[in-house]
Amino acid sequence: MPDPATSSTTSRFMDFWRVFRRNRMGIAGLVMLVVIVFVAVFADIIAPYDVKSSVDVTTADIYKPPSAEHWLGTDDAGKDVFSNFIFGARVSLIVGFFAAFISIVIGGVLGIVAGFFGGRLENILMRFTDIMLVIPDLPLMVVIVALTKPSLLNIIFVIGLLGWTTTARIVRSQTLAVKSRKFVLRARAIGAGRGHIIRHHILPLVMPILVVNAVLVVSLAILNESTLSFLGLGDPTALSWGQMLNYAFGRGAMSTGAWWALVTPGFGIVWVVLGLTLFGHGLEQVLNPRLETHHLMKPRPIVKNEATGQPLRHSTGERVALDKPILLQADSLSISYINDGKPAARAVENVSFTLREGELMGLVGESGCGKTTLMLGLLRLLPAAGQIVNGEVWFGEKELTALTDEEMEDVRWKGISIIFQGAMNALNPVRTVGDQIAEAIVKHDATMKGDVLNARVVELLDLVGISSDHKEHYPHQYSGGMRQRAMIAMALACNPQVVIADEPTTALDVMIQAQVLELLDSLRKKLGLSIIFVTHDLGVVAEMCDSVLVMYGGVLAEYSDVDTIYNNPRHPYTQELLKAFPDLTHPEKRLTSIPGYPPKLDELPAGCRFAPRCPLAFDRCRVEEPQVLSVAERHMASCHLLEEKKSEIQRPQKQRRKKSS
Ligand code: SF4
Repeated sequence: MPDPATSSTTSRFMDFWRVFRRNRMGIAGLVMLVVIVFVAVFADIIAPYDVKSSVDVTTADIYKPPSAEHWLGTDDAGKDVFSNFIFGARVSLIVGFFAAFISIVIGGVLGIVAGFFGGRLENILMRFTDIMLVIPDLPLMVVIVALTKPSLLNIIFVIGLLGWTTTARIVRSQTLAVKSRKFVLRARAIGAGRGHIIRHHILPLVMPILVVNAVLVVSLAILNESTLSFLGLGDPTALSWGQMLNYAFGRGAMSTGAWWALVTPGFGIVWVVLGLTLFGHGLEQVLNPRLETHHLMKPRPIVKNEATGQPLRHSTGERVALDKPILLQADSLSISYINDGKPAARAVENVSFTLREGELMGLVGESGCGKTTLMLGLLRLLPAAGQIVNGEVWFGEKELTALTDEEMEDVRWKGISIIFQGAMNALNPVRTVGDQIAEAIVKHDATMKGDVLNARVVELLDLVGISSDHKEHYPHQYSGGMRQRAMIAMALACNPQVVIADEPTTALDVMIQAQVLELLDSLRKKLGLSIIFVTHDLGVVAEMCDSVLVMYGGVLAEYSDVDTIYNNPRHPYTQELLKAFPDLTHPEKRLTSIPGYPPKLDELPAGCRFAPRCPLAFDRCRVEEPQVLSVAERHMASCHLLEEKKSEIQRPQKQRRKKSS
C-alpha cells in the first residue's frame, strides 16, 4: 500500500512540475543549470585532456588559438582551455552553491526569528546585521582569506559567513509584513503554535523572496570566488573560472591576443548567473500563485446556490426565547491600548452583554468605536499593545480572561470561532482553501487524517454551498462571495457554539451580501449557533438580529432587544443613527447624518464621549461621564438624560458569577 505522506509529496511535486513546465524562462534557466551541473559532475568523462598532466606539453603549445585539436585553444601553460573550463565549472559551482547555502540558512533563520519574535531579540539581531552590513564584504574577505590558508573550504566559509546580511534584512521585512496579515491572526485563533505558523504561513510567503534572493546570493558567491581567485587568493590546487582569469590576465593573454583564455571562463560565469536568474524567476512564478494572471482565466461557476434576487427572509417575530441558557456573557469589560510614554487609549470601557443559545446579536456603531477590539478581546487575540484592564468574560463555566494561553486555545474555534473582516486578507494566498480548512480541523483533532479529513472538508464546503471541485483552488481563484463562504466553512470546522462574524459582508456587492447573510442565518437555525454580528448596516440588523449592542467611542451606548432598539431607542446616539436609516413604511421620512466624527480613542473628550456631536448635550455632559443605566428589563443605555427620570430607571444589576475552581 503506498505511503500517504510519500504519495502526497509526489503529487505536490507533480502539481509543481505541471505549472513550472509552462514557464518558458524557468525551463530555459533549468536547462542551462542542468547542462552546467552535468558538465561539472561528469568532467572526468567529458574533458578531452587531463588538466593536471603536463606531459607532452611544449612551449609551442602556449596560447594556441582554437583548432580541431583544442576547440577553445590553449592557456599559458599550453593546456587545453576547454578541459580547464569543464573542471573549472566543478570548482566554481561547488563554491557558489555551498557558500550561498550557508548565507541563505544564516540570513533566513535570523530574518525570520527577528521579524516573527520582534522586541529585544529583533533589536539585537538587526543591530548586529547593520554592523555587518556596513563593513564592505570584499575587502574583509580578502583580508580573512589572506590571513588564513587559501583552501577551497576556507573560501566557502568566508563567502558564506559574510554574505547573509542582505538575506536577513529582506527576510525580516517580509516576515514582518506577513506576520501582520489577517490569516496569521486567523491561524492563531484556531490554536496554531508559533512553529506551525512559521512553517505553514510565514515560510510559504517568505520562500519566493528567499528563492529569488538565493539566486542572487549564488551569483554573488561565484563572483566573489572569481574575484578572490583573480586576486591570487584562490586555492592553487583547485582550478576555478576565477583562477583561469587570474592566470590569463597575469600571464600575458591580453598582450598576446589570446582572447579565448579570457572569454571562456567569463562565458561560464555569465552562463551560470543567467541560468540561475531565469530559473529563480520561474520558481517565483510557481511558488507564488498570486503572480498567476488569474484575471485572464475563464470564469467558472463556483457557488451552488446562485443569487435568488429575493429579499432576505424577514425573521422579525422569531426572536430567541429569553429562557434559553446564556452561552457568553461580558461583564464590565474594559480594554486599553498601552503605549509607552503616552496615555493609554481606552478602546473599550465597561461593556456588558449576554448572548443566549441560538441568539444573533448585532454589534453596531461607526468605525473606530471599538467593535473589532471588543471581539478580539473576547477571543484574547488583541495585538501586543492591547490589554484587558477590567471585567470578565464568561463562556459557560469558564472565565476567559483568567484562562492560560493553552486553555484559551482550546476555547478558540471549538467553543468560539470568528469570521474575519475581508476574506481575501484572512486567507493565506499561497495555500489552497481546502488545505486551510483542513488546517483548522487538524489543529483541534490530530486524529483526523486522510479520507476522513478530506470528507469533513468536503462536508463543510458543501454546507456553505461550495462544490468540492473547488477544494484545491487558491483564494484568488474564488470570487468575493466564495471567499466569504469559505471563511464561514472554516469558522464552522470544529463545531463551535458561538461564531463572531466581524463585518462579513464588507466589500461585497448587494446580491452577494444577501446570499452570505441568508447563509449565515440559515446555518444559525440549522446548527443552533449563537452569532455576534458586527456591522454598520442597520437594515441587516433589523432583519436578522435578536438583540443589538450599540457602541460609541468604546463604550456601551445602548443595549436591548432589536424591537426595543428600533421602536423605543433611549440613547441620543441610537436615535441619531436611526434617523439615517430609511423606513419603507414612512417614505416621506428625511434621512439625516450625524455631523462630525467619533472621538480618537487616545484623545477622548471630557464627560460624555458623544457630547461634541449630541444634539441634546447639556452642561453636565461635558464634565461627567454617564454611567450605564438599566432602563427596563434587558434594556441598558448610558446617558445623563435617563438619570434625570429617576422614577423610570435603576442601576443595572450586575450578574456576577462565581469563577469555577
Ligand atoms: S449624556 Fe449628554 S451628551 Fe451624552 S448622549 Fe446623553 S445627552 Fe447626549
